[in-house]
Amino acid sequence: MGELYADIIVDISHEKLDKPFQYRIPDRFRGKLETGMCVTVPFGAGNKLIKGYVINIGETCKFDPDRMKEIRGINRGDADVEDRMISLAGWLRRNYGSTMIQALKTVLPAKRSVKKLEHKVVQRILGREEILSLLGESIRKKQVAKERLLRELTVQETIPYEWVTGKLGVSAQTVRSLEKAGAVRIISTQSLRNPVKLENAEEERKTLSVGQMRIVEEVMTDYDAGNPATYLLHGITGSGKTEVYMKIIEEMVDRGKQAIVLIPEIALTYQTLLRFFRRFKGKVSVMNSTLSPGEKYDQCERAKNGEIDVIIGPRSALFTPFPHIGVIVVDEEHEGSYKSESAPKYQAREPAMEVARLHGASVVLGSATPSLEAYYRARTGEYKLFTLRERLTGGQLPKVHIVDLRQELREGNRSIFSRKLQELLAERLNRGEQSILFLNRRGYAGFVSCRACGYVVKCPHCDVSLSEHKSMRAGSLLVCHYCGYSEAAPNVCPQCGSRYISGFRAGTQQIEEKLKGLFPGIRVLRMDADTTRTKDSYEQILSSFSSGEADVLIGTQMIVKGHDFPRVTLAGVLAADLSLNAGDYRAGERTFQLLTQAVGRAGRGTLPGEAVIQTYQPEHYAIVRAAGQDYEGFYEEEILYREMLGYPPVAHMLAVQLFAGDEEKGGLLAGRLAKTVRRELGGEKESRGNGGAEVRGRPPELRIIGPVPASIGRINDIFRFVFYVKCADYGKLVQVKDLLEEEMQNMAPVSETVQFDFDPVNTW
Ligand code: ADP
Ligand code: ZN
Ligand code: ZN
Repeated sequence: MGELYADIIVDISHEKLDKPFQYRIPDRFRGKLETGMCVTVPFGAGNKLIKGYVINIGETCKFDPDRMKEIRGINRGDADVEDRMISLAGWLRRNYGSTMIQALKTVLPAKRSVKKLEHKVVQRILGREEILSLLGESIRKKQVAKERLLRELTVQETIPYEWVTGKLGVSAQTVRSLEKAGAVRIISTQSLRNPVKLENAEEERKTLSVGQMRIVEEVMTDYDAGNPATYLLHGITGSGKTEVYMKIIEEMVDRGKQAIVLIPEIALTYQTLLRFFRRFKGKVSVMNSTLSPGEKYDQCERAKNGEIDVIIGPRSALFTPFPHIGVIVVDEEHEGSYKSESAPKYQAREPAMEVARLHGASVVLGSATPSLEAYYRARTGEYKLFTLRERLTGGQLPKVHIVDLRQELREGNRSIFSRKLQELLAERLNRGEQSILFLNRRGYAGFVSCRACGYVVKCPHCDVSLSEHKSMRAGSLLVCHYCGYSEAAPNVCPQCGSRYISGFRAGTQQIEEKLKGLFPGIRVLRMDADTTRTKDSYEQILSSFSSGEADVLIGTQMIVKGHDFPRVTLAGVLAADLSLNAGDYRAGERTFQLLTQAVGRAGRGTLPGEAVIQTYQPEHYAIVRAAGQDYEGFYEEEILYREMLGYPPVAHMLAVQLFAGDEEKGGLLAGRLAKTVRRELGGEKESRGNGGAEVRGRPPELRIIGPVPASIGRINDIFRFVFYVKCADYGKLVQVKDLLEEEMQNMAPVSETVQFDFDPVNTW
């Protein structure tokens, strides 16, 4: 039996992670030691016993075996904050695939050598008269620096230290000499940075409605009985979800627990934060991408010390090291930004449940349009479902018109604005009301459709639309993102013979120009990736629209959430289909979410609203259900499609993504890995031609699709390949990942790298 060795990190601060130390595993610990465990090891010249964490176990000895030290003990004390973070990192690594280092870096705050923000002031202890006499003395002695400081001290009792050494140009030595003379003292207040600088405005307390109260009571009853659960709170915007979260958090804080509130970065608006600050005052803090690493670190320290009870932030806030978490709220649970784009590629919902498990905490997910995953689990009883149906602020749901763009073309209107939309826009202009025009470009993948009949070219095997790939020899080629199927782009529509078949190309700028042509003098604001480059531009555009500086706001998906605009009475969606044809299995779900939100933008105030949805597929269920604001109806149809094709959440899907410097080697390795899966785990290839029929129902076994070059086959001269493994059982996909990790490790070192993406949100 060969020796076993463990890589151990002895100081879990972010920047030291890359330097693990290797220790021998004594026989008595064989089979007992696992990655993530806390151990005692001798360290340094004096062999002082310190705490360390196992991040890897292997058979290769990387140092001189004679000088290798042994692990002394395994610590199994009750989990402290750090142990929990390590255990969480281990969980992330197991379930999503990444190195232990990557996983640790995800959960631990960067402990850069940022100095605590030390605030020092120089304060005079002598009276003003005495300072004046010292001043006279220093003038006589021509001590100019001292003179400057004393002069300042005659008018101010305290001066910030940086100001003294900076602006006044007084050396530390001079200050010290005055300190020695008993003229001043230096006061240092070490304060952890608090990024929250809001006035302490009093809030006006709302009495919860019966429906809201029932939710709070059930969550707290479960919690107090020792049965914390996961709850899905389904309710349209304005139905009072945030009030429910705040009440639950308040109850938890009363019980001495802490709360994490996750919200998508884009929804981290002043308005939202203000509500939490008013309720929880100094006990709440924010984590967001604009914080410096130092500030983030400080937030974690404040959380550990019990200075704060509530943290609000995007997905990374989940890893705030609170000692006793009572509840984790995930607002807008369906948002794509909860999914991490780099390894470990987790979706915040699952780790939230794991953090909750480690703390015995409750999880509350909230959304107006829950993800299929969450709703599916609520239906199967894994989550408890609550529904809030009424809008508490008044305001009616808008009247929705679906416009068939094929009909428009047939009747001679080639404009991107349907006649209905033009008519309603004109009305708004006359009445001095505002409109929002929404260009749905999300997931725009260069699909090809017919403007005359709406026909979209789809993959015969995967039921997703094909994407146009230009720059290939003659003409363009249509390719499937999943299986690599391809065919030549047609010149005429295969369904109706029309020549108007092509990719859809229209940007927000083009829409602005056309709108100005149609309505001279119209005041337009535009919000898209171009106009929101700078940090504050997003808020600026929203607030100038809010204060009535424009008649129309044109934008991409960015404008559908966040702010309320009481004077907006018309929401127009220019081409609802764009996201329907995004070429991945979530296209319908995304479209439904975006349209529901876009439609919901109109009529928030007292004025009634209308919405126009322009589309080539007016009978598509995602469009019909969004127009009717009918989530349940949408869910029923969408889940059927997922069941039929074995897509998540009914089954699971693992994308194995491969990066290679050499195209040929990359392709070969991808093929080899796919073959390994098939050989070892009995996966079947979902081959062309039999895809449809055989995949129906829950595939009990593994299905392998691909490998194919990724839809963006090369970035920065790195070639990308992908294959998908589908299975009803998530655990089996974890096995696939483990197997491939092992295979990569056993191979002679290669330059290619592999990443795993479970239940991918974006196609590759
Ligand atoms: P959501 O989070 O679902 O969008 P909010 O909690 O923000 O809903 O509530 C929407 C609006 O209704 C807010 O202005 C809020 O202050 C108000 N509101 C919520 N609950 C109540 C209540 N019980 N009584 C009166 N107003 C309420
Ligand atoms: Zn056609
Ligand atoms: Zn396909």
